[in-house]
Amino acid sequence: MADPNVLSQFLSLPQGEKVIAEYIWLGGTGKDLRSKTKVLDRKPSSIADVPMWSCDGSSCFFKEAKMTYSEILLVPKAMYTCPFLGSPNLLVLAEAYQTPNNTETPTNGSDLPALQPGMCLRRAACAAVMAQVEEQDPWFGIEQEYYILDPATKWPLGWSGYFDPQNQIQLSFGLQFATGPFFCTPGTGAFAGREVAMAHLKACVAAGIRIGGVNSEGMLGQNEYQVGPCRGIEMGDELIISRYILMRIGELFNVIISFEPKPIPNTNAGTGGHTNYSTKATRTKGSGWEAIQQYAKLLESRHKEHMAAYGGADRLLGAYYAPSANEFRWGVGDRGASVRVGNLVPLQKCGYMEDRRPSGDLDPYVVTRMLVETTLLLQ
Ligand code: ADP
Ligand code: MN
Ligand code: MN
Ligand code: MN
Ligand code: MN
Repeated sequence: MADPNVLSQFLSLPQGEKVIAEYIWLGGTGKDLRSKTKVLDRKPSSIADVPMWSCDGSSCFFKEAKMTYSEILLVPKAMYTCPFLGSPNLLVLAEAYQTPNNTETPTNGSDLPALQPGMCLRRAACAAVMAQVEEQDPWFGIEQEYYILDPATKWPLGWSGYFDPQNQIQLSFGLQFATGPFFCTPGTGAFAGREVAMAHLKACVAAGIRIGGVNSEGMLGQNEYQVGPCRGIEMGDELIISRYILMRIGELFNVIISFEPKPIPNTNAGTGGHTNYSTKATRTKGSGWEAIQQYAKLLESRHKEHMAAYGGADRLLGAYYAPSANEFRWGVGDRGASVRVGNLVPLQKCGYMEDRRPSGDLDPYVVTRMLVETTLLLQ
């Protein structure tokens, strides 16, 4: 990367009334992040005031063969301060549609190919479900794990070729550990990429993302941050924006950010996306503990459906800090379970629960929608 001082010379140039907005949307896999930059003539007063835009769907949704129908509209849904250009510049989260409300097709009738599981369908479905349960005020918090990879070797940061499973590693500075030496451990050779994690933390705070904290994870080069608690649809939106910010910070440090569930096979820690969940009922002192037990039973009854929708079964081996994909278990203080309830919950008789099944590449719109459907709507 060039000397950052060179860039800051341009970033501090005046921009008059103009506002630079980065439109961010999910492409055709529902996981690929896309973005492009638009200059607005003035600061929008609300999200409704941010103009729609469009993009070439054949480049991010469809294969070449479907070029005829390739215009995709970008419909703004949420906005945040841009932590790269500073206020008043914006990050704009957009849904992708063929028409503004995705109900009708402009010219070609039924020939139009359906948008494949992109953001349009999944976010809209999630928003509809969240609107239905507003009275229960669902809150979520997602623990987003990720590996930082060296672009030259594609190995996690700090690794030199293959690394032994964490339990057998002894750090060169000779400290002794009761377990693997990386989780929440300071020191050179223990926390690789702390500056990436810290730059991301500050950038998310400045953007208005409800980031809750960061920690180094079970493997060298693996970190976690948490976003939340967020209400309803805001959980998915803020997680997607936090990932976008992390990828941009990766560019600045010349590292690759990977949310893959199991990027390194065998005994190395996979990458999780634990999703914490509560409702008005579970947060009510006294009866909240009973509500949580009832939710756990409902989640058990739909384990197969959740697993099919979540994906990431490669990681769910029933070992290496992950539950098994094939069986459902819930428990108090049980970090090997599918669903963990904190030790404080039975004591305080209220609180939240942690779904440990989602992987690092989780679609937050799918996971939060499924949790609400199973516990509140399908009883
Ligand atoms: P762990 O002990 O599993 O590592 P973390 O501290 O990393 O847990 O993450 C806990 C998550 O739970 C955070 O994202 C936080 O926002 C979320 N959380 C806290 N309280 C609630 C609540 N009442 N409802 C939903 N999520 C919550
Ligand atoms: Mn063009
Ligand atoms: Mn955590
Ligand atoms: Mn973790
Ligand atoms: Mn957790």
